[in-house]
Amino acid sequence: MSATGLPPLLRQRLEAAVGTEHVLTDAGSLLAYESDALTLFRCQPGAVVLPADAQQVQACVQVLHEAGVPFAARGAGTGLSGGLLVPAGGVILALSRMNRVLEIDVERRVARCEPGVVNAVLGRHAAQHGLRYAPDPASQTVSTLGGNAAENAGGPQCFLHGNTTQHVLGVEVVLADGRRETWGGPHALSDDLDLRGFACGSEGSVAVLTGLILRLIPQPEAVGTLFGAFADVATACRAVSAIVAAGLQPLALEVMDQRAIHAVEDSVYRAGLPREAGAVLIVEVEGTAAQVERDAAAVEALLGEHAPLQIERAQDEAHRLRIWKGRKGAGGALGRLAPDSLVMDGVVPRSHLAEIMEFVEEVAEQTGLPVANLFHAGDGNIHPHFSYDGRDPDQCARVEIASTKILLKCLELDGSISGEHGIGLEKQHLMESQFDAEELALMQQLRRVFNPADLLNPGKGLPMKRGCAEAFHRHRHLTLDEEFPA
Ligand SMILES: Cc1cc2nc3c(=O)[nH]c(=O)nc-3n(C[C@H](O)[C@H](O)[C@H](O)COP(=O)(O)OP(=O)(O)OC[C@H]3O[C@@H](n4cnc5c(N)ncnc54)[C@H](O)[C@@H]3O)c2cc1C
Repeated sequence: MSATGLPPLLRQRLEAAVGTEHVLTDAGSLLAYESDALTLFRCQPGAVVLPADAQQVQACVQVLHEAGVPFAARGAGTGLSGGLLVPAGGVILALSRMNRVLEIDVERRVARCEPGVVNAVLGRHAAQHGLRYAPDPASQTVSTLGGNAAENAGGPQCFLHGNTTQHVLGVEVVLADGRRETWGGPHALSDDLDLRGFACGSEGSVAVLTGLILRLIPQPEAVGTLFGAFADVATACRAVSAIVAAGLQPLALEVMDQRAIHAVEDSVYRAGLPREAGAVLIVEVEGTAAQVERDAAAVEALLGEHAPLQIERAQDEAHRLRIWKGRKGAGGALGRLAPDSLVMDGVVPRSHLAEIMEFVEEVAEQTGLPVANLFHAGDGNIHPHFSYDGRDPDQCARVEIASTKILLKCLELDGSISGEHGIGLEKQHLMESQFDAEELALMQQLRRVFNPADLLNPGKGLPMKRGCAEAFHRHRHLTLDEEFPA
């Protein structure tokens, strides 16, 4: 198959399934689909197909299955692990037209949605009924519920309420051969094999999610948001540990370092964060008004024990939203600093946060590239954000080496190579460092049950077979001692 187009018969069959105008093959359109938000890896698809509903997804998948053409589902393309590239000539099923909130069942506290619904849109629908959808990735104004479920997305509030998988009650799927099934359902308790759970976090390699049945929870009576500003990141991390050790259960514990603060304060996301601080720790608590008052006071007292430069509590909802606009806009603000970004995703036990952040600084100095840090500190989930120019092969090599070193260090500290962005293409070569051969073989076997020909989002998550490797990117096997190019 040519890298630039589809065989005419295949194209005709896809057009018959979704309508001519919903099959994109011109170079300009395809350019927008050649990567997700990790632009280090690119591969132009042969076509992008935009189905309107589950029947059309099914029709497309049947055609692609019969033709033996690789394909991947796409939500908003905000993924940060190179999770939805298809080999040249493959097809992207872009689900952005499947964006209807089908039902909010207030009594059962359940929402039924199509996969292309943007996370924050569901939030707005739920809020009209005094409810909310808890998973709140910083990308929530853009990223979709389908993408969130496929990546098992986290977010600031997930420290208290858990990642996406804890809020997905059921999924409607189209399997790799075109069969349609429903896994799980609105009843929280089920004695079936948990295929719903298997789909969450499967990075689009087990099934295409065409419908989601989601748990909603009540809005809290009150919320308290505050931040402490500290001289450095290590002190902010120690304050995080102290808050958890005291038995408090905040909704969110988020750290931003000075580079992130400056990027935010220089942008439209300005939040009034102190520029002189080496780091800020944002804490949010929720509950009844009395609980919030008690917990916020306890947090303030603990922050006060860590030599804060400043402690500030949001005085009203506008102030609170301004703080969150700064935190959630930080990724966008940092994106202004260079043509490309590599936003990492690693996990360490909270007690090792200060140590890993020191290591990140050390590595960043060796790369000569700027790194900013903003992270879900409560979960020990770090996101070093490297700014670089992807047109410069030397800078690309440096960020790849840096990110590998940092993730290997996370493993050395008893952590993990991913908390919420998935493995994708970015980290599949590191799976062998986290899991042994038997574990990987078991994962591969499980996946093959659902994706026997590896047509559905091939080459992601698990170490690649040789044929696939050539289609994308051959990772070098690096070690913690790897030297940077002179
Ligand atoms: C500025 C910024 C901030 C971010 N903050 C966070 C954060 O706080 N927490 C977090 O977890 N992530 C965060 N992310 C990463 C990203 O937004 C999440 O991974 C998100 O869940 C991806 O959603 P999406 O709709 O963009 O999915 P896409 O990028 O389109 O796809 C991601 C993966 O899901 C698969 N997929 C998508 N839709 C479906 C479907 N319907 N069926 C099957 N597979 C599907 C794709 O094949 C791909 O493998 C951030 C990204 C950016 C750019």
